[in-house]
Amino acid sequence: MTVSPTPPPSLLEYEQVAFCHDKATGLRAIIGIYSTALGPALGGTRFYPYQSEEAALRDVLRLSRAMAYKNALAGLDHGGGKAVIIGDPATDKNEALLRAYGRFVESLGGRYVTAADVGTYVADMDVVGKETRFATGRSVANGGAGDSSVLTAYGVFQGMRASAAHVWGNPSLAGRTVGVLGVGKVGSHLTALLLEDGARVLVTDILASAVAALRARHPEIEVVTDAAALARCELDVYSPCALGGALDEATVEALSAKVVCGAANNQLVADGPGGTARALMARGITYAPDFLVNAGGVIQVGDELLGFDFARAKARTASIFDTTASVLRIAAEEGISPAAAADHLAETRMSQVGSNRIWLPRH
Ligand code: NAD
Repeated sequence: MTVSPTPPPSLLEYEQVAFCHDKATGLRAIIGIYSTALGPALGGTRFYPYQSEEAALRDVLRLSRAMAYKNALAGLDHGGGKAVIIGDPATDKNEALLRAYGRFVESLGGRYVTAADVGTYVADMDVVGKETRFATGRSVANGGAGDSSVLTAYGVFQGMRASAAHVWGNPSLAGRTVGVLGVGKVGSHLTALLLEDGARVLVTDILASAVAALRARHPEIEVVTDAAALARCELDVYSPCALGGALDEATVEALSAKVVCGAANNQLVADGPGGTARALMARGITYAPDFLVNAGGVIQVGDELLGFDFARAKARTASIFDTTASVLRIAAEEGISPAAAADHLAETRMSQVGSNRIWLPRH
């Protein structure tokens, strides 16, 4: 089995790409807006020491397009966008730079709404939010909704239940064995939901402290040495909740699980036609697309613009069950991968509902 690499996105597909440079603070950022067809582009700010401007541009194009699909599939009135700040968050991040970045976000007039991502946190969004109305993922004290991992885990759980119903005819995970790769914020909440449902849970994490903290709360979890060992275990469900790229060729070959459903972004190492999605299909493994099942976090930050209401955001996250069920049914009927079916649903919504409207949040 060979998988082909993902082709790079073309700049011409994008509505707007803004290069931001602030001499006083040294800020260098790129904001990518793939589409505002469903509403303001929503997506996080990644703070990362890119080796080159080209690498940063490639990343922001890839990520902003993915957000358009994710937001559309989640039923949000938001298009897709993303931003990257070029630099090392450990040494280059400071209030002046984040505020300069916030002024660039504000200058787009609501076409782009930001949130936290790799290298940025709730506290950073509080700072960015001093300069712009269009920063979500802020702290509760500053009118935000705080940590999004509770709802992200809840959404993954709903996607997993829908996948179980599709494969075994019953959404319950009671008696199933689930392997959770990475028990950080999302993986630990997910583990609690799975145990509550009656599943047997095997976990692994490179951080011993993450495993120890989870084991203190849930002594019944079983700990496996590493990701490769977990993939080789007898599992019903494999749940990547660490970093991207969990599903490479060797992992797909090793899996005994019938379902793959987890929070990590970009799980498929090669996501083009003939890529990892096809390899999973060939092995009879049902893959619940990552950008569908991990949308609880973006549902939460989107809700923040309305004045955060946990019950409303949770109800919306629960709909991931129905969307996953539809995606898996369409994929089976059409003989296509669930990832392709999810893309198709998102594209249909963007083209049918799209109105290019821009609104301002109430303040
Ligand atoms: P986190 O940093 O809290 O947890 C990730 C965990 O994975 C850590 O404990 C880390 O030690 C572990 N890990 C990293 N590499 C590993 C490896 N090779 N083997 C085993 N363990 C490894 O992050 P999180 O917020 O829980 O997010 C998990 C994933 O879900 C990420 O890919 C993230 O992008 C995605 N996601 C998170 C949210 C959210 O709301 N937090 C929303 C959508 C998607």
